[in-house]
Amino acid sequence: MAGAGTIANNLARRGVMLVLSSPSGAGKSTIARNMLNAFPDLTLSVSVTTRARRGSEIDGTHYRFISETEFQRMRDSDALLEWAEVHGNFYGTPRDPAIQAMQEGRDMLFDIDWQGGKQLMEKARGDVVSVFILPPSMDELKRRLVRRAEDSEEVIARRLKNALEEIPHWQEYDYVVINDDLDRAFQEVKSVLVAERLRQDRRHGLYDFARTLTGSEK
Ligand code: ADP
Ligand code: 5GP
Repeated sequence: MAGAGTIANNLARRGVMLVLSSPSGAGKSTIARNMLNAFPDLTLSVSVTTRARRGSEIDGTHYRFISETEFQRMRDSDALLEWAEVHGNFYGTPRDPAIQAMQEGRDMLFDIDWQGGKQLMEKARGDVVSVFILPPSMDELKRRLVRRAEDSEEVIARRLKNALEEIPHWQEYDYVVINDDLDRAFQEVKSVLVAERLRQDRRHGLYDFARTLTGSEK
């Protein structure tokens, strides 16, 4: 039934900055893709990177692939909200789309590493909701990197080695999901967003709504 329930669920609120991080291969991009399909009003923050494009990736959709010179120019002109060197390449979050989404009360998903997650948590703690995704085992992590078949053997070895330094950062995140069964892990990340959207401290539209319920001016 369209009625007060619909209006109540569309009250103005601050947007959520949903940060997903994990060691490479744990399934973060797969879960991110499922989230974007499940929530049409969730926007992906498209990062810039100096990494070479993988065969399956589209420039401007998965990343904006740029040169190191262009990356330095963006970084030095403060056009990046956060940036980091990961596995020997540079990655960064363009500032303007993220700021605009927050100002408009839209939710944004950030598929970034723990260094980027840390910077966003320092800059916008109240808006950031962070989820760290762990693999069920190191053997399975390796199998997934191999099965993805998008990186060379050398790159896979480097990513597995780096995973040992990335994994302990789970402790800095609000939520931790173990991606064993994909459906279950996806449902868990979905639940986080659904619950975080309901937090009263980001729902400023509740003030007026509650006044209409009670007929009071307070
Ligand atoms: P990341 O973005 O963390 O590097 P991906 O999302 O690219 O990882 O996932 C790595 C590979 O593992 C992909 O081939 C993906 O289809 C697969 N994968 C993701 N989650 C699972 C899961 N729960 N079980 C089995 N395979 C998975
Ligand atoms: P990949 O090369 O597999 O796409 O990504 C490697 C790592 O870089 C992943 O952990 C991914 O989340 C991270 N990453 C992607 N974009 C950004 C970004 O803009 N900033 C930071 N800090 N990390 C990023």
